[in-house]
Amino acid sequence: MLRETVRALAEAKIAPHAAAVDEEARFPQEALDALIAADLHAVHVPEEYGGAGADALATVIVIEEVARACVSSSLIPAVNKLGSLPVILSGSEDLKKKYLGPLAKGDAMFSYALSEPDAGSDAAGMKTKAVRDGDFWVLNGVKRWITNAGVSEYYTVMAVTDPTKRSKGISAFVVEKSDEGVSFGAPEKKLGIKGSPTREVYFDNVRIPPDRMIGEEGTGFATAMKTLDHTRITIAAQALGVAQGALDYAKGYVQERKQFGKPIGDFQGIQFMLADMAMKLEAARQLTYSAAAKSERLDSDLTFFGAAAKCFASDVAMEVTTDAVQLLGGYGYTRDYPVERMMRDAKITQIYEGTNQVQRIVMARNLP
Ligand SMILES: Cc1cc2nc3c(=O)[nH]c(=O)nc-3n(C[C@H](O)[C@H](O)[C@H](O)COP(=O)(O)OP(=O)(O)OC[C@H]3O[C@@H](n4cnc5c(N)ncnc54)[C@H](O)[C@@H]3O)c2cc1C
Repeated sequence: MLRETVRALAEAKIAPHAAAVDEEARFPQEALDALIAADLHAVHVPEEYGGAGADALATVIVIEEVARACVSSSLIPAVNKLGSLPVILSGSEDLKKKYLGPLAKGDAMFSYALSEPDAGSDAAGMKTKAVRDGDFWVLNGVKRWITNAGVSEYYTVMAVTDPTKRSKGISAFVVEKSDEGVSFGAPEKKLGIKGSPTREVYFDNVRIPPDRMIGEEGTGFATAMKTLDHTRITIAAQALGVAQGALDYAKGYVQERKQFGKPIGDFQGIQFMLADMAMKLEAARQLTYSAAAKSERLDSDLTFFGAAAKCFASDVAMEVTTDAVQLLGGYGYTRDYPVERMMRDAKITQIYEGTNQVQRIVMARNLP
């Protein structure tokens, strides 16, 4: 039922704008409005904080169905989960009440600020600092590649509070867009997900009250990594969605397009491609749903499964969307058809929340 509801909404209210959002590289406001109206913008927020209380699998299905129509729009529910999960996992009761309510209502979005210009795969090498001043923390530094920066009201920011301890000297804070000293860089000009704003965030002597620290001092990096165990599954969901969108489009196209006097879908060479695409996609889906169940149960092998689902599903998404372009021939290579956008959008799922090389490092360290 959930899948049908989200698919109908995505087809009616999100898909019609996907090409323009990409072409104009503009925020998908129509998608945000439609998702908020249907209470699908941050479904993971627990009911006790005013949310829809969707479990990890239901959240995956929502993101998957939105991504099938428009990957940029699927970053709305996905990044709302990514940004707020540190608070849900490690935050005080007061923090949860203060920040999850407005998120659930659709009054505020949440971003996640870990990466920096010189600290990507090696996120623990970050330089952003928080220095104590009386009761307050004073934040200085630059975060890079922050999804929905400028649009989100709230930011989970990881910063060094003890430079002698590397990852154990990092703490997490909630920072608000309106805090004095917070500003944003120009939107990045990207290959895909052009509707999702990605910007730098600057902190210039931003004073943060002590109750905005998420969990204990020095636990921020652990919280950031624990968060990714869960949210990599939402990136897998984006990958499934975009691959399904491309497969569905190509399936229809090969029945219409005629060469050599018959639909190209009658050729076995084409049928075999579609069979492989569907087979890989279904394998990725089963792995992703299994990882989502592990996320919900907090199973001990979640770290492996989160990384495996993200890595496998994103590699599949790249293959399937590339094959979809191939199935449309020259037409697939143009913006008159949606598959080239899907191929460009799929690429990011192999890069963010840890590149697929990093996922393989994580898997190798956590073999089941
Ligand atoms: C559109 C977009 C949105 C993003 N959104 C966010 C966000 O909201 N919040 C946030 O915090 N970050 C975000 N990111 C950052 C993203 O997670 C990083 O770009 C990613 O982790 C890679 O870091 P890097 O770009 O610095 O690449 P690098 O770490 O410089 O990697 C370059 C290459 O080297 C490889 N490599 C690095 N180390 C190793 C190793 N040990 N072994 C083998 N290969 C290695 C990588 O796999 C990659 O191929 C976003 C990025 C993009 C592009």
